[in-house]
Amino acid sequence: MPIATINPATGETVKTFEPYDDAEIERRLALADEAFSRYRTTSFAERSELVNKVADLLDADLEDLARTMVVEMGKPIEQAKAEVKKCAGGLRWFAEHAESLLRDEDVPGTAAKRRSFVTYQPLGPVLAVMPWNFPLWQVFRFAAPTFMLGNVGLLKHASNVPQTALYLEDVCRRAGMPEGVFQTLLIGSDKVERILRDKRVKAATLTGSEGAGRSVASIAGREIKKTVLELGGSDPFIVMPSADLARAVEVGVKARVQNNGQSCIAAKRFIVHEQIADEYIERFADAMARLTVGDPLDPATDVGPLATPSGRDEIAEQVEDAVSKGAKLLCGGERIDGPGWFYPPTVLSELTEDMRVYREEVFGPVALFFRVGDIEEAIAIANDSDFGLGSNAWTEDEAEQLRFIEGIESGMVFINWMTTSYYDLPFGGVKNSGYGRELAAPGIREFAVTKTVWVD
Ligand code: NAP
Repeated sequence: MPIATINPATGETVKTFEPYDDAEIERRLALADEAFSRYRTTSFAERSELVNKVADLLDADLEDLARTMVVEMGKPIEQAKAEVKKCAGGLRWFAEHAESLLRDEDVPGTAAKRRSFVTYQPLGPVLAVMPWNFPLWQVFRFAAPTFMLGNVGLLKHASNVPQTALYLEDVCRRAGMPEGVFQTLLIGSDKVERILRDKRVKAATLTGSEGAGRSVASIAGREIKKTVLELGGSDPFIVMPSADLARAVEVGVKARVQNNGQSCIAAKRFIVHEQIADEYIERFADAMARLTVGDPLDPATDVGPLATPSGRDEIAEQVEDAVSKGAKLLCGGERIDGPGWFYPPTVLSELTEDMRVYREEVFGPVALFFRVGDIEEAIAIANDSDFGLGSNAWTEDEAEQLRFIEGIESGMVFINWMTTSYYDLPFGGVKNSGYGRELAAPGIREFAVTKTVWVD
């Protein structure tokens, strides 16, 4: 894959980059190692100052940065701006809370000792392999806790967002981060193994596809290095008769098409109780059909292009496969001609297990509908997936809420809301959606050395 900015709205190659050669990779690994030896000794106050400064620079760069993201991966401009603001907020949150999240924990009550406690220490340089879909937030939700813990980061970003990737290193340097604390490596995925096997790199986090996750985790496993994997998802969005239907339609549509439908935590499978299914599906399909598809730089656009031509082809082929096997198309379903890789909001119902969409992740603005007779059937369909990232259940009935919380196999469950990431809540999945957690206390501790101390 070339390292290049190719505008998904026009197909135009905007800028290409030469990947770093082996000598440059070696120089940067040495720099990370050296930077860690000093950065690990800095205080929380010093780190907070740097991290808050990065947040201030993001605020100042908001307009240009959002535009760069749009030109690289096609998300609607207002969503790009919201992503920049969210990153600034996340940085400030970790700057404020990291010290208390990492405070020593006394363990009272053990016999024959004066004092025992657990202390959290930095681990070393961590490799982050990141995707293009939230090109800023995916990186900062790794980088903000990394900076506050005292680790240093090496970023291998997706090959189609090189300008955002380079911005990330640049903004950290402008904020006063010492050289080597955060580096962007302009490399293809073929160089990841060499970096992961290097003794100076202590761990890796990967957000991306199942295939990439399996590859990185198996290499890291052989090297006995810890990994965190945030992989794909096929979140269920269950609607029961007691739900606020209008809100469940409005939020459901947003949860499906946010980021042009390319979000790991997008609602992908709509599982609706038969008592309200006809009304819900009709209102949902109507709202999808009315969305504005077009230029992502236009603030009036709801849905921009898919990020890559292969991503658009994949969606089109999944829909064609379902329709050829008897799925009912309620709206959309045809590639949009012209430059760029546009695909319309699409709704499919009457789905069966032999269709690709039943098992695969659908990474575009395509909603899948399932009709169920009761809550247990809803949970069974929700769990009939290799993924287990987020999940959504809409019901005002408290007993049903508890049953969903207990019964759905996922890392996160949102009742009467869509799956989303917040700084103060752990984020992550089960099954093939990965393992480990980002954000909040579990996130900042993933790459800490949890050291047990006994002082007699
Ligand atoms: P992808 O192909 O796996 O790419 C993600 C990153 O992994 C890129 O930097 C890519 O580099 C690199 N990569 C690809 N194959 C690799 C390999 N064999 N070894 C090492 N690195 C490799 O993912 P994508 O298709 O672009 O992104 C969409 C996927 O990410 C979806 O499945 C989505 O659900 C998932 N995702 C998950 C989360 C989450 O938090 N759980 C969040 C966002 C996205 P190149 O660009 O150079 O190929």
